[in-house]
Amino acid sequence: MPYRLPTATWRGLLCRVALLQARADRLGAFSDLVRNDSTAVRGVLGDLHLSATRAGQAASDPAAIIAAEQDWQTKLEQALQTPGLTSDETNLLRDLISRPTTGAPVDPFDALYQGVAKHTAELYGGAWLDTPELSVLPLAAHPRQPPDPYALTAETKRTPSGVVVELLIRPDGLGPATFLTIPMVLTHECVCHVVQLSAGAPVNNQSPFAEGLMDWLSGYHLRRWLPLLCPGMAASAIVHAGLLSAVAVPPGHRRYSPRLVGWTAANELVSQLMNLGVPAAETLVASLALRMNLSRGSGDERDAVVRRIELQRLTIADPTLRSVVLEEADADMLF
Ligand SMILES: [Zn+2]
Repeated sequence: MPYRLPTATWRGLLCRVALLQARADRLGAFSDLVRNDSTAVRGVLGDLHLSATRAGQAASDPAAIIAAEQDWQTKLEQALQTPGLTSDETNLLRDLISRPTTGAPVDPFDALYQGVAKHTAELYGGAWLDTPELSVLPLAAHPRQPPDPYALTAETKRTPSGVVVELLIRPDGLGPATFLTIPMVLTHECVCHVVQLSAGAPVNNQSPFAEGLMDWLSGYHLRRWLPLLCPGMAASAIVHAGLLSAVAVPPGHRRYSPRLVGWTAANELVSQLMNLGVPAAETLVASLALRMNLSRGSGDERDAVVRRIELQRLTIADPTLRSVVLEEADADMLF
C-alpha cells in the first residue's frame, strides 16, 4: 500500500482515477457541465464518488475498479433516461458510457509524477539531483472554498530524509476538474521548487519570482509536456491549468498576488521582445527564468528584478537585462 493511506481511501482514489482516466478525452466537457449546473451530470459525478467509495471496501485493487465501473455504468445508463436532457448532456453521458475503464497503473499518481520529473530533470540537467519521493495525502477539507472545483494542492518540503513532493487531494473531490489539474500542480512543484529546496534555499510562498515568474515557466513547459504525459486530456488540462491559477488566490486579501506579479513580468518581457515573434520571445523569457533560478542571486534579489520588470522600470532597453535575456551574458549580471 503506497503512501501509508488507509486501504479504503487508496482504493477509492485508484477507482476514481481509473474511471476518469478511461474518459480522459471527455473530462473537459464533464467538468464544464458540472460547473454549468447540469443536474444529470452533477448526479453522475456524485454517483462516481459513491461507486468509488463503495468499491474501496473490495478485496483487491483490480476487483475494486471492476466493481466501481459496473456500478457507475448502471448509474450512467439510468441518467441517460432522464427526461429533458440537452444534446450536450446526452452526448456526454453516451460518451462516458462508451469508455469503460480497463484498469489503471499500479500507482497512477507516481506514474504521472515520474513523467513530470523526467522532463524537469532534462530541463535542469546537472542541477537536478535525485527525483524527490512523492507522497499522496488525503485532505479532510477543500483547500480553498467551493465553488472552486479543484480539491487539491501540493507542497514541496524538506524532511529529515530528504526533499518530498506532497500531493494533497480531497478524495471525494477527485472529479474531472481536480484530475485535469494534477499534472499542473506536480509540474509547478518540480519546476518551481525542487531544485531550490534540494540546494537548501528557503521556501517563500510570497515570492513573485518563485511563485510567479517560475510558475509562468512551469506553465510554458506544461503546454509542451502535457501531450506526452497525458495525450487524451492535454487540451483540457491546459485550459484547467489557467482556471486553477485564477482561483488559487482567494479574493479579499488586498494584496497583489506574487503569481500575478511574476506572470505579468514574464508577459511584459514577451511583449517587449515581440519583434522576434512570440515563440522566440517566449523561449528567451523561459530561458531567463530558468537561468535566474540557477543563478547566485538571493530570493530577495530575484524578487526585486521581477518587480522592476513588472513595473516597467527595468525593460529590454536596459543593456544588462537585454544582454542577459539574449543569452549574451550570465544571469548573475542581474544582481
Ligand atoms: Zn509554489
